[in-house]
Amino acid sequence: MSDSEYGEGDLRKTGMALKHDREWDYELDRIAAAVAERDAETVGLQFPEGLKRRAPAVADDLREYIEEDVRVLISGQPCYGACDLDTFLMKRTDVFVHFGHSPMKESEKIIYVPLFSNVDVLPIMERAVEEELADPEEDGDVGLVTTAQHMNRFDEMREFLEDRGYEVHTRRGDDRLTHEGQVLGCNYASAEVDADQVLYVGGGKFHPLGLAMEHPEKNVIIADPVNNVVTIADTEKFMKQRYAAVHKAMDAEKWGVIYCTKIGQGRWEQAEEILADNDDAYLITMDEVTPDRLKNFDMDAFVNTGCPRITTDDGPRFDEPMLTPGEYEIAVGNKPLDELEFDTFHGTW
Ligand code: SF4
Repeated sequence: MSDSEYGEGDLRKTGMALKHDREWDYELDRIAAAVAERDAETVGLQFPEGLKRRAPAVADDLREYIEEDVRVLISGQPCYGACDLDTFLMKRTDVFVHFGHSPMKESEKIIYVPLFSNVDVLPIMERAVEEELADPEEDGDVGLVTTAQHMNRFDEMREFLEDRGYEVHTRRGDDRLTHEGQVLGCNYASAEVDADQVLYVGGGKFHPLGLAMEHPEKNVIIADPVNNVVTIADTEKFMKQRYAAVHKAMDAEKWGVIYCTKIGQGRWEQAEEILADNDDAYLITMDEVTPDRLKNFDMDAFVNTGCPRITTDDGPRFDEPMLTPGEYEIAVGNKPLDELEFDTFHGTW
């Protein structure tokens, strides 16, 4: 796949991309303690895409800590979030470890190892204050959000802004989010704060672009300590793509309605509502939603009730228009075009 085929919001330039080859704390002692305590015979390890190449070395290191006869299995399933647990492996192992994401739902069976970034966030925040944030005399209110990878520095970030005269507004989102100030690609409830400017501290544009689409009334400033960039989230290109996809789908007769079987991505009721209302809609169940897997279906358009970022970020890679459930309502004439908004995902399972 060439660079240009990736959406602007792709994950390769986030904290998970390992642009700087960092050392992560895999918390092997915590995993080994659970293995001993549960008298486990099997351990399953699941890594996000950006860390899969580390999997063999982590498995080797873990073996040093546990009994020789404990079998270590590595998940080969794609993984982009805590919504995406390898349930097959989870059921077949005594201890199941999910690396790189904070819990979407706690369970005794699963050990979540968040893998906090060790990058210093303050220099890039200093630049953001100098270059893009309003002077505290003019507008002293600022919302603060980050991703799970930088959550270990959240208090430091808040203090930094307070020391410079800002009133920092934060909140914990809904139960899909573990921490105060944490955002996900599909959930920005933590940014619903009383401030017109929101500072996102973290790697890449994936999260802040979603945030700016979900909250178009706010100025979203990106302080990216991974790529050393300060910028403003600009959604224009994304929004144009969304309008174009909706327009193209307005002529569609046959619709494929995708129900995603990943544990944290199923929106059955939404899929059912569409089917109940449209005789030319067909339910397609699948885990990973990719252009290749859909190309043999003879559909005019698709509506994806799974991860909204597949639709918004990867949409142009699909042969047929791929819409979110809200965009579908516009395309079939149930809602006006000016109600187009970013699709978010709430709750767990
Ligand atoms: S559903 Fe949300 S948490 Fe899961 S991969 Fe998509 S954006 Fe990330």
